Parts: sequence; C-alpha cells; structure tokens
Amino acid sequence: MDDTAVYGAIEAGGTKWVCAVAGPGGRLLATDTIPTTTPAETLRAAIGFFRRHEPSAALGVGTFGPVDLRRDSPTYGHITKTPKPGWSHTDVVSPLRAALGVPVALDTDVNAAALGEWRHGGGAGLGTFAYMTVGTGIGVGAVVHGRLLHGLLHPEFGHIRVPRDPADPFPGSCPYHGDCLEGLASGAAMRRRWGRPPEGLDDARAWELEAGYLALAVVNLMYALSPQRVIVGGGIAKRPGLLARVRERVADLAAGYPAAPALDDYLVAPSLGDRAGVLGAVELAREAPGDADEHA
Ligand code: ZN
Repeated sequence: MDDTAVYGAIEAGGTKWVCAVAGPGGRLLATDTIPTTTPAETLRAAIGFFRRHEPSAALGVGTFGPVDLRRDSPTYGHITKTPKPGWSHTDVVSPLRAALGVPVALDTDVNAAALGEWRHGGGAGLGTFAYMTVGTGIGVGAVVHGRLLHGLLHPEFGHIRVPRDPADPFPGSCPYHGDCLEGLASGAAMRRRWGRPPEGLDDARAWELEAGYLALAVVNLMYALSPQRVIVGGGIAKRPGLLARVRERVADLAAGYPAAPALDDYLVAPSLGDRAGVLGAVELAREAPGDADEHA
C-alpha cells in the first residue's frame, strides 16, 4: 500500500452528505457535512471540499439509491428512479471523477456501512453478515462469503413484504408498494402514521409496533441469508430499549427454529456508530480499481 496516499470518501445520504479524507489505515484527516439539496448544488459543495483537501489516490462513494452499479451499463453511477425530488437519473460518479481526476468507487450507502463495520467494527472476522439501517428509509447491506453482495441490482431489503400487524390501520408510506417494510417501519412511515417526528414520539404503542416489524425483518434476513451477525444502525434504531425489544420479538418469532443464536451478541448496534458509512466509503476508495492493494 502507498503510505502517502490520501483517500476521499462520501457518505451520500438523502438528507446529508458526509465528506472525508483519510490517510493510510483509513484514519480520518478531515470531514465535513453538507446538506443534500439539489444534485448540482450538493455535488458542487462536495467537490469544493475535496478541492481543499485533495484526495490523491481515489474517492469512495456510498450513496442512497437505488443506484446503477453495473460497470458495463451506460448509466453506471447514476441514481435511478428515486422518490427523492430532483434526484432521479442523477449521474453521481462522472462529475466527481471529472472534477477530481481520481478513480471513483461506488456502492450503496448501506453496503458502505457494512464494509466499514466489516473492516473496523462488529463484522470483523465474519464471512457472512448483514447491516440493516433503520432511519428515514430502511436498507440492508450484506457481506456474503467475504464479498459485498451485488446481483441484479443491489439488495433492496427495505421493500420486502412483511405481514401487517392486525392492529395497524396505517396503509403504508412507500410510494411504490404502500405497506412494504419501509412503508410500515421507516422513520418516514412512523412520522406519517403518528403525525409527528419519531424522535419525540413517546407513545409505547408506536415502539412496540416498530419492534414487531423490525423483528419480522430480522427473522427474514436470518432465514434468507444466514448471516453470522445482524448489525442494526440508523437513527430509529438508536431509540433506547428498541433493540432489546426486537431481540425478544425475534426469539418469539423464530420459535426455536432453528436453534436461536445468543441474540445479545447476534443482533447488535454498530460498533462504529454513525461513522460506519463514511469509514466504509474510505474502504471503497482503498479498493478502487487502479489501487494496487487487492481486497475482496
Ligand atoms: Zn416499498
């Protein structure tokens, strides 16, 4: 590895972009947070940060999506169709590459967070694990047999269908599916269902419902991917007591089949806290094509 290399990283979220530069070993040298406004304005602000801090080797970007990750596609690096106003069909990669003159490695924001936890946090040493974020939206990034999982697109686990709680009349907030997991259990869904932001929501029914939906999601993840650990991050997941209640509901739902893992160690908060995404984006940069250091 080049000991003088400086890597750039962007955790490109729907409400803010966290920009960083990192030195050897992934140590952060500088960071800045930019509100996500229009594509042109947001990209301009990010480019401004990197003009001041000059990543010399590569830039890694973990972005909200859905995003085209197929390298042979004419729309590689574009956000595809998103409910986020103004961002559908935005090319994220080309403007950054053109302005900064370095290779740009791209993945989803949740895959980047999974990568960060895998290299530096709660996924270290595991071959197969999942990172679920529960914030404004819901997403899952997964490492399977030591590689980030890609395929047709990338996992869109937030949009799986879960059985609606019989006591829940809310029709769901997903613009595509209504009452998919994200439509029922994301921060946006909670805000719509209860009529106020989830941060200030102290109605026990709201959090019991949330724990139930998240437990269904975790059980589906366990059965589909057989992850060795499930890390749950994002703003909603920080609610005190929520994760503990999700563990209890998972144990009930799994009903001993298969033999439940020790859930305190299985279903955990991110070791890296809110830095998982940006540290993962640094790792994307370190593995960018053109970097001699081979991983994954
Ligand atoms: Zn959906």
